[in-house]
Amino acid sequence: MADQTPGFATLAIHAGAAPDAATGARATPIYQTTSFVFDDVDHAASLFGLQAFGNIYTRLGNPTSAVLEERVAALEGGTAALAVASGHAAEFLTMHALMQPGDEFVAANKLYGGSINQFNHSYKNFGWNVVWADADDPASFEAAITEKTKAIFVESIANPGGVIVDLEAIGRIAKAHRIPFIVDNTMASPYLIRPLEYGADIVVHSATKFLGGHGNSIGGVIVDGGSFDWTGDDRYPMLSKPRPEYGGMVLGETFGNFAFAIACRVLGLRDLGPALSPFNAFMLLTGIETLPLRMQRHCDSTLTVARFLEKHPKVDWVCYPGLDNDKYHGLAQKYCPQGAGAVFTFGVTGGYEAGVKLVSNLKLFSHLANIGDTRSLVIHPASTTHRQLTEAQQIAAGAGPDVVRLSIGLEDTADLIRDLDQALTA
Ligand code: PLP
Repeated sequence: MADQTPGFATLAIHAGAAPDAATGARATPIYQTTSFVFDDVDHAASLFGLQAFGNIYTRLGNPTSAVLEERVAALEGGTAALAVASGHAAEFLTMHALMQPGDEFVAANKLYGGSINQFNHSYKNFGWNVVWADADDPASFEAAITEKTKAIFVESIANPGGVIVDLEAIGRIAKAHRIPFIVDNTMASPYLIRPLEYGADIVVHSATKFLGGHGNSIGGVIVDGGSFDWTGDDRYPMLSKPRPEYGGMVLGETFGNFAFAIACRVLGLRDLGPALSPFNAFMLLTGIETLPLRMQRHCDSTLTVARFLEKHPKVDWVCYPGLDNDKYHGLAQKYCPQGAGAVFTFGVTGGYEAGVKLVSNLKLFSHLANIGDTRSLVIHPASTTHRQLTEAQQIAAGAGPDVVRLSIGLEDTADLIRDLDQALTA
């Protein structure tokens, strides 16, 4: 019999959604309310005791966000998801469910700079200690594991350098050591890479970027892969120990293969509070409906722009895994054959001054600190996000004086090339 599973484009439009039961509205309504009326006292008690699923208060869940959660879970191939206020909130709530003071996690050394800050500084205040591993060397992850290691964290395609991580190799190591493997899939989106298929247990997203895709809403999502068995595992007390506030319930036992998403909601979101607004959930859902179309166009255009820059006399180097001669091209062909994403860096001839001039001369590209918009975006990290570092530190972070990062949008590719050409030669 033919496979009846809907395809990716169908899921991007329909997963989680149905005509509104009350009104018949076809688009998912924005349930802009803080709270929901209980049927009666028993209904309220069962909701608070986690004996029934339903709406209580928008910090804990909301029907518009629930559609977004179901949709992203379906696109990633997970069992459940939790929508939260930002990508950073998704990372934070994930770690909150796994880590105790004094614990460690191993993270790839090539990550979005904000995540490096979060891990190096804020997480230390909770006693969660990051141990850095070489994103290019899966064996370095194994070497960094100790008995205190509670998680492994990587980005599938790292921001900004276009580093592609060998998910399968790291996933194998995580499995052998029974450590949950978390993949930030922001740069790839599930259209390009589905990390759960390569051994990830949890996927996190900054939905602010390609999922939403229009540069208008901050949001984050945690996807539970349902693959990690938390039961009887003393290392993860949030999931394996009785919860006094829920009548001694053990979340890992009661909720089985979606216990992680439940723990992030009923412990993390409940107590730490970074809820997504229903309006932003609606905006992100609308964006996701066109994810496959946008993502393919982003990738095709990016490859054309990267090829143009590679040959430009004012460009010293281009780092984009879609290029045949790129260091990560082999991994790109394995993990994301449809395209290597829309964000990459290049080196402008003339260093710092030339980088500053380039961003000032560009007309169509917007100079700002974001990625994954319909609009094309540019940033010169050495004069902005990384300006507080010494030159040596900038180079080590992949943000040397000559580095320019582009996020290619959905405009006509010829217009983008014309804009880059005039700005480089001005
Ligand atoms: N992860 C990656 C790969 C990112 O690029 C970002 C933001 O740029 C984040 C996480 C944080 O997401 P947010 O800005 O939505 O908190």
